[in-house]
Amino acid sequence: MALIVQKYGGTSVADPDRMRAVADHVAFTRRHGNDVVVVVSAMGKSTDNLIKLANEVSTIQPGRELDMLLTTGERVSMALLCMALAEREVPAMSFTGSQVGIVTDAAHGKAKILEVKGDRVRASLSDGHVCVVAGFQGISTDSEITTLGRGGSDTTAVALAAALEADACEIYTDVTGVFSADPRIVPQARKLTKINFDEMLEMAGAGSKVLALRSVEFARNHDVPLHVRSSFTWEPGTWVTSEEPSMEDPIISGVVTDVSEAKVTVLGVPDQPGISAALFEPLADANVNVDMIVQNTSTQGTTDISFTVPLADMGVAEDIVRRIADEIGATGVTHDNAIAKLSLVGAGMKTSPGIAAKMFRTLADTDVNIEMISTSTIRISVVIAEADLERAARSLHAAFGLDSGQSYGAPLPERT
Ligand code: ASP
Ligand code: MG
Repeated sequence: MALIVQKYGGTSVADPDRMRAVADHVAFTRRHGNDVVVVVSAMGKSTDNLIKLANEVSTIQPGRELDMLLTTGERVSMALLCMALAEREVPAMSFTGSQVGIVTDAAHGKAKILEVKGDRVRASLSDGHVCVVAGFQGISTDSEITTLGRGGSDTTAVALAAALEADACEIYTDVTGVFSADPRIVPQARKLTKINFDEMLEMAGAGSKVLALRSVEFARNHDVPLHVRSSFTWEPGTWVTSEEPSMEDPIISGVVTDVSEAKVTVLGVPDQPGISAALFEPLADANVNVDMIVQNTSTQGTTDISFTVPLADMGVAEDIVRRIADEIGATGVTHDNAIAKLSLVGAGMKTSPGIAAKMFRTLADTDVNIEMISTSTIRISVVIAEADLERAARSLHAAFGLDSGQSYGAPLPERT
């Protein structure tokens, strides 16, 4: 008998009909002889609505109280799903994160999971129940209710799957899998049948919203195979596993687009030791997530430093940067919100030279100006003007053979 963890996102349980459809599928999975642990998100936009509500009530929102509020969304889902299962004569029990022993650190709003006890889930499973667990939440080492950050239910599901040594963790969402690009931007995008953890991590880091970054890290660290699929069509989706790509697999798996960042440039920074630390330490202390950083070569003892931050953090970042710029004697600070990040991701890059060159050539031929570049072993990202994004993404998708289903392969080295 297999143990399957199924996670249903907000759209999958958005209304009573969806809730019943999910209950049908859980019942179906169980009828096929599997033990099932379900992790649910809050219904539809309820987390957003709770945040809105908090904003309407007060500008001061202690982390403890905000977490207390936000965790209610998932509790609504878990109780309703158990009722729908009861009607289907499937014995089920709901549990909050704290009840199943999801122990986190004390960082309200972005708590990290330290341990998953899972005793109650194990006991309830062996009594023949389906366990329905509230996603996105845990209990801190000081016994406070915490949340794991937006999209955190994925992480709950993966952490439970790891702790229970589940055979698979199915992530049900409103798309049919992981795509070679965002189909709203690149209509030729196709669903990938498989991808490995490293690629998925790079995609999530590059701005793909399909899976929360931390859930993929967790899945990789504990080797939990993920199956990302749709609760609307129930068709097979994309498997995310530790499998390394073979020679026949495409070199590039996908093009990732992200318009959620903005660029800050500090001009005329004195070029001396300690300046970058002086700039980035206060940003880190304020929890601003700095992504790409470019420092130009120094001319006449000064340099320019550009970096990207989430648009949402721009206000905080700008205040800090202006203050520090003053302190270190920089000549000015500019920002640009109309940028986009465009990334190519593929594990095959490690062994195929020339990918970056081909990417830059394609962008040049499409008349797209590159403002920043960063790379990892399996990713190349550029920052471009937001207005160029669609054109650039489509041309890369085509150039790397993703449109046709045949990916670009660099010529093999000559045999000697
Ligand atoms: N309900 C939470 C959110 O909207 C957690 C989740 O959906 O994963 O962020
Ligand atoms: Mg969600």
